[in-house]
Amino acid sequence: MRKKPAATPATAPAASRPFVYRNRTLYCDNISLSSLADDYGTPLYIYSGRQILERFQLFQHAFQDRPHTVCYAVKANSSLAILRLLGKQGAGFDIVSGGELERVRRAHKPALTRVVFSGVGKQAWEIDAALKADILQFNVESEQELDLLAARAQALGIRARFALRVNPDVFAETHPYISTGLSEHKFGIDIKAARVIYRRAMRSKWLEPYGVSVHIGSQIRKVDPFAAALARVEALVSQLRRDGHDIRTVDAGGGLGIDYSDAPFDAAHQVERYAAALIKGLASEKAHLLLEPGRFIVAQAGALLASVLVVKKNGSKTFVITDAAMNDLIRPALYHAHHEILPVRQPSGKAKLITADIVGPVCESGDFFARDRAISALKPGDLVALLDAGAYGMTQSSNYNSRMRPAEVLIDDAKVTLIRRRETMRDLLAPEII
Ligand SMILES: *Cc1c(COP(=O)(O)O)cnc(C)c1O
Repeated sequence: MRKKPAATPATAPAASRPFVYRNRTLYCDNISLSSLADDYGTPLYIYSGRQILERFQLFQHAFQDRPHTVCYAVKANSSLAILRLLGKQGAGFDIVSGGELERVRRAHKPALTRVVFSGVGKQAWEIDAALKADILQFNVESEQELDLLAARAQALGIRARFALRVNPDVFAETHPYISTGLSEHKFGIDIKAARVIYRRAMRSKWLEPYGVSVHIGSQIRKVDPFAAALARVEALVSQLRRDGHDIRTVDAGGGLGIDYSDAPFDAAHQVERYAAALIKGLASEKAHLLLEPGRFIVAQAGALLASVLVVKKNGSKTFVITDAAMNDLIRPALYHAHHEILPVRQPSGKAKLITADIVGPVCESGDFFARDRAISALKPGDLVALLDAGAYGMTQSSNYNSRMRPAEVLIDDAKVTLIRRRETMRDLLAPEII
């Protein structure tokens, strides 16, 4: 490892949920969600900084006996304030574009040397920016990309550290849109072809074989597939060492899943199981371990707060229409993902439950957050919180239906910081030309 990340205390923090009822009102840590709606409006993304740091520390703790760097996957939630929070704790970053590289630079410049660059279609300008930023390594996903990397490295006179992202051909049970580790997927290089490509790379003095990387998908709840993938990577690494390559890093990717239901979730235990599986897979391999968790760090730290606009009945169905929509949080529409939805005012034990579709105002039948969900009766003006929305929420938002994106706030105990203001009509129209 070239540079040591900042030291972090390796204590296991207590597991805790940031969104809980107090005095019959939903809170995020020490802030009531109804006060946030008053101050910042809705829809509003709310994140608990405390939980983000706790989750990061779970990884630091579980891997404390091995040299490692947690390279948080920026695409899960790329807010500058959240990147800064993690960067200051010594996190590295997994990026997939030149835009994400620039975010890391703006958020916490010293973290640039802890960046790994993933993605199947890197462009020359993005590679150039990353070479100049002296990132830790490029995770290369094709031979063509390796040729381009060599050419750009030569043009700039900067040697490129690279890892091949290998495709281990292991099956991970998850949604087909977020499974990536089978040979039928577009990601990575067939693990059987990797050795020849590393050997070929030795011919270029501008390429430094530095690691091997793997990422088998997202929202993976069982840990065995990680162990299976890493065992294949370990066999490749020892082969590469015999071939004379100085392999310094093994990048295990991200993908550890969370529980989106309201069942009790022991995050610390899940990370311990994950660490044990990885370490089992890499039994005799001592390379510096890179981890790329995204969802696991931020998902449960975030909620999307919305106001009920209309409650209407069509035939036998009840629809609760909120001011948040699929353009703000697309996961239910895209992956049929489940999000718990809580009324901000806690209903009394005797309150009547209704069965309703909770939907947004966008002109698409796919614009739903929940279907046939049992929820306490709601009326216009009531507030609801969509839980576990911290990952792949705001980062997948859009201006569809010419809607302005929500504001975002970061909670630190009893302090609220606006980390992104609500978009305005001016923002919406700014890039257009007539
Ligand atoms: C998306 C992605 C991650 C993060 O995945 P999570 O499921 O959010 O942990 C990590 N590495 C790569 C290469 C990715 O594409």
